[in-house]
Amino acid sequence: MHFSRFPRIQLAHLPTALEPMERLSAELGGPELWIKRDDCTGLSTGGNKTRKLEFLMAEAKEQGADMVMTQGATQSNHARQTAAFAARLGLDCHILLEDRTGSNDPNYNQNGNVFLDHLHGATTSKCAGGLDMNAELEKVADEFRAKGRKVYAIPGGGSSTTGALGYANCAMELVNQANAMDLRIDHIVHATGSAGTQAGLITGLKAINANIPLLGIGVRAPKPKQEENVYNLAVATAEKLGCPGVVARDDVVANTDYVGEGYGIPTPGCIEAIEMFARLEGILLDPVYSGKGAAGLIDLIRNGHFKQSERIVFLHTGGSAALFGYTSAFSYGGAGSAIAAE
Ligand SMILES: *Cc1c(COP(=O)(O)O)cnc(C)c1O
Repeated sequence: MHFSRFPRIQLAHLPTALEPMERLSAELGGPELWIKRDDCTGLSTGGNKTRKLEFLMAEAKEQGADMVMTQGATQSNHARQTAAFAARLGLDCHILLEDRTGSNDPNYNQNGNVFLDHLHGATTSKCAGGLDMNAELEKVADEFRAKGRKVYAIPGGGSSTTGALGYANCAMELVNQANAMDLRIDHIVHATGSAGTQAGLITGLKAINANIPLLGIGVRAPKPKQEENVYNLAVATAEKLGCPGVVARDDVVANTDYVGEGYGIPTPGCIEAIEMFARLEGILLDPVYSGKGAAGLIDLIRNGHFKQSERIVFLHTGGSAALFGYTSAFSYGGAGSAIAAE
């Protein structure tokens, strides 16, 4: 894999740290847990979308765009990182937000990532839940094009083959880091949503023959749909990278048992995981993605899914800004209709 063949604007803080989680490992009684800190990618409280945006924004610039546009749920971390990246490049940014949870909590609708979208100077518009959001995005993009704007539209989560390059690169970065530290990795676990992170990672891991199983913990779609989305994007990403056929269908594994009531609705296990990481490791997870990913990891450990002697790397995909849209989901979080109880 030779990433320099693709346009890229390198502004993420890389490599992200790879650190042990000694207190969490001790609390759970093994296996040995490590964390890859992609919550610290350097742009506007960090997160996994920044790696994807390095390639997506370079493509936007190359195509002469004067404006970027994307879509996501109200508390989208992808929207916030896109707004920040656009600010850094001096591009206008418009974000289409989907009311995916139906929450009327003022913090959910105005605080957290929504507050930061506006702080970075992006404009936003809203649409009802359940629509084909990438189609809705194209409609809004065409409205701006009709006014003479040169719009580059980024799909939800930045999950195109271009965006997935960022996570193929992350796979190589992580394995290089582990090799330099003489650290054997037995599993990698992370939260999976719009599929670009898992698709990029599995493509990268397979292309370099790392032989490390990857497990995505789903936050929205049922298992067959999630795995199909990841697989299809991985196949296309491998082709783009010049290593077609490296990913087999059974390399793609998602566990969707931890979604709970639905996307963006925290579960008791998610809240417990957020509190464990905060109180044992001083690390902030989020209530939509990394909290559910960690809830899955913790539950699988408790159920003996992993061997005591194994070493697991949890890829922290970020999202802490969303905590401020979800304070009412915590017992000490203050007033507001509790999203968890709706
Ligand atoms: C977007 C996101 C994910 C999921 O990544 P995908 O590439 O969309 O699957 C996980 N965690 C956080 C915090 C995110 O913002």
